[in-house]
Amino acid sequence: MMRTLRRISKVAVGTVAGALACAVVAVGGVDGASLYAPVPSLPMMMVAVGVAILVVSAVIRRMQFVAPSSRAQLASYWLSAATDFADLELGFALVAGVHAVIAMTGGLSSPAYPLLYGVVAFAMTVVARPGALATLAAAILLELALLARTGFVDRAILASVIHILCIGGAALAHALLLRGVTARYRKKRAARLDEELIALRDSARDYRLIAAALGPGSRAPRGRDEEEKLLAIGGVGMIGDAASWVLSTVKRSLGARTVAILWLDDDGERVKLKEITSDADDITEQPRLPSAGILGAVIRDRAPLLCAATKPGQLPYYNSNRAGVAVVAVPIIEQGHLRGVLAADRDGSFTEADRDLLADASAQVLRVVQAEQVFRAVERAKYEHERFYQATALLGRALTPEQVMETAFDAAAAIVEYDAAIIALYDKQRQKHTIAAVRIRPGGEGLIDKAQLDGLEFKDNAGLASMVVKNRHYLPAGGEPREVTAPIYTRKVKVDDAKSLLVLPLLAADEPIGTVTLVARAEKRFGKDVREMLAVIATQVAVSLENGFLYKRMETMATTDGLTGLTNHRTFQQRFEDLIERAARHGGKVALLLCDVDHFKKVNDNYGHPIGDEVLRRVARVLQDVPRKIDIPARYGGEEFAVLLDNVDVVQAKAVADRIRIEISKVVVETEKGPLSVTESVGVSCFPDDGSDRATLIERADLALYHAKHTGRNRVVTWQELQASKQKRAS
Ligand code: GH3
Ligand code: MG
Ligand code: MG
Repeated sequence: MMRTLRRISKVAVGTVAGALACAVVAVGGVDGASLYAPVPSLPMMMVAVGVAILVVSAVIRRMQFVAPSSRAQLASYWLSAATDFADLELGFALVAGVHAVIAMTGGLSSPAYPLLYGVVAFAMTVVARPGALATLAAAILLELALLARTGFVDRAILASVIHILCIGGAALAHALLLRGVTARYRKKRAARLDEELIALRDSARDYRLIAAALGPGSRAPRGRDEEEKLLAIGGVGMIGDAASWVLSTVKRSLGARTVAILWLDDDGERVKLKEITSDADDITEQPRLPSAGILGAVIRDRAPLLCAATKPGQLPYYNSNRAGVAVVAVPIIEQGHLRGVLAADRDGSFTEADRDLLADASAQVLRVVQAEQVFRAVERAKYEHERFYQATALLGRALTPEQVMETAFDAAAAIVEYDAAIIALYDKQRQKHTIAAVRIRPGGEGLIDKAQLDGLEFKDNAGLASMVVKNRHYLPAGGEPREVTAPIYTRKVKVDDAKSLLVLPLLAADEPIGTVTLVARAEKRFGKDVREMLAVIATQVAVSLENGFLYKRMETMATTDGLTGLTNHRTFQQRFEDLIERAARHGGKVALLLCDVDHFKKVNDNYGHPIGDEVLRRVARVLQDVPRKIDIPARYGGEEFAVLLDNVDVVQAKAVADRIRIEISKVVVETEKGPLSVTESVGVSCFPDDGSDRATLIERADLALYHAKHTGRNRVVTWQELQASKQKRAS
């Protein structure tokens, strides 16, 4: 309370004195008639001298006025209004003084009136609004008081009205003209500032568009980090250019010695000299950072500041202890966050208009920074979409499920840096997952055990993958886990020291067909920004996989026989051709067995066609089971089968054929008419001994088969045996 009173008295004492002086003059405290009397009244003279002293002291006090520190201003309303009170004091004192002169020089008809107009005009031009209005009001009130003292006679009223009109006119003219001119000037300057900034941004964009127009193919692929770095460098350069342009414009406009941007660190605890333009030669490279001082006060108070004369060392960007310079500084605030300070200094003190101009400029600096941020975001998005489309284009080209899964790993790698990726397929009927593909990227060795995972089947229970399939949404959904603890598939599958994990559902037409799991050793690899993109990629993968399965089914249909599941005739011919070609190149051998079921017509006739089909299926199974995996059994047509044996000579081929023949004879098909067994005859030919091309080899195997039929059936005959028996008969 006492402190407030002390502050009020300190700030307002001059104003009260000025107002008192006005009151004294208003009630006729100074009167020309008594002053000019032969014996002047002593109190009257004392009042006149008092008013004169007050006027002189008010002028001197106003000229020497220094506003309280911004910290002090913030602490007290009265201190923050100190400048206004000083203005009021000056205005009241001047009006009181001039009215005293008017009273002494003839009252309403005084020739000193222009002095009053001048005081009002001066206040309107130079003094801030409260002081200016108070001066105007005081002038009019004292005028009315003078009229009252003179008496309301017609002539006096007329004179007063004229005076008041003149006072008002002077005020209005100055207010309109000068403030109007200043406003127009400032607006023009702001518009120019805007224009130049737009031009600057355009030129930067043009430059980037040229780079973009070259297209993604024309430049070497860059990593995500590299791309971000390049963007940041471009951004910093652009901010630097634009900011230094703003600074030099401000410097020219204000006639400043130095204009500087001090930028706050991200943590908001330190500042650094970001941009500076100066005529001074004592600019420091490493500024002392203002935790205190004038700029420190701006940072603390987040309010603009005007200072008429600095103390030594208060300006951090000067080396020397430069002092007594005027400073104007404004905070640069972005969405409530203090980003830095824009400051200017010169020898002559700054006005509030200068401060406003600087505030405009700080907004421009901020806009440049913001425009650049938006620009960078757009560039980054563009880059990501580029990778995204590359990835999906790859998927479109993959045909088989295996190709799709490999491409899916490539596509994911184009978007995030994972160390290991696993695709598990989900079988809805069996409620089981099967690991279908695993990729471990360089650096991911040891993270998971590929051998353990390959082909692993697991049940549809509590693992993350099962939950992802149930929820049809990727996991973990919220923030990124610091550790991967929950089992992904089963408890047995260990993912050691992984810090990033993402399990995405493979959704084809909203149906989950499996999961993609991405694992990385580093933290925070699969952030929010990429998850949605990966989820879309996963959907693409799912659709491509479905297509892949369809393709595989169609391929199977085209190459296998529907009844027996063996290779069909067309494919048999192709495979035969391939084998011969390869054997010819490597000096290898190929054997062909042609098998024909004996008396099959009778089976059909006696047991019916369906039983005939069943016999064919059972025969086909023997042909699949007896030879090695690499050999190719095929349905040649009807009840005729062929088997291609790779890298087998005629002796081995005959042995295989005999084993087949014996196994077929053991087959028993249960029918309504009792058990049914069949036999078959086999003809054998071998590449290269019995022929060097497919047609010859088939023809000769067929002749051997024909011979087997004619020599008792249920036997194997090779082309060479057929030749030998012919020679025997001939001889
Ligand atoms: P051979 O011992 O001389 O070979 O006597 P065969 O009765 O087996 O005579 P052939 O080879 O000429 O007879 C082929 C018969 O196989 C004709 C046809 O009715 C029957 N057949 C062909 N394709 C099928 C089939 O897909 N299903 C069934 N059930 N029968 C078939
Ligand atoms: Mg036949
Ligand atoms: Mg037959």
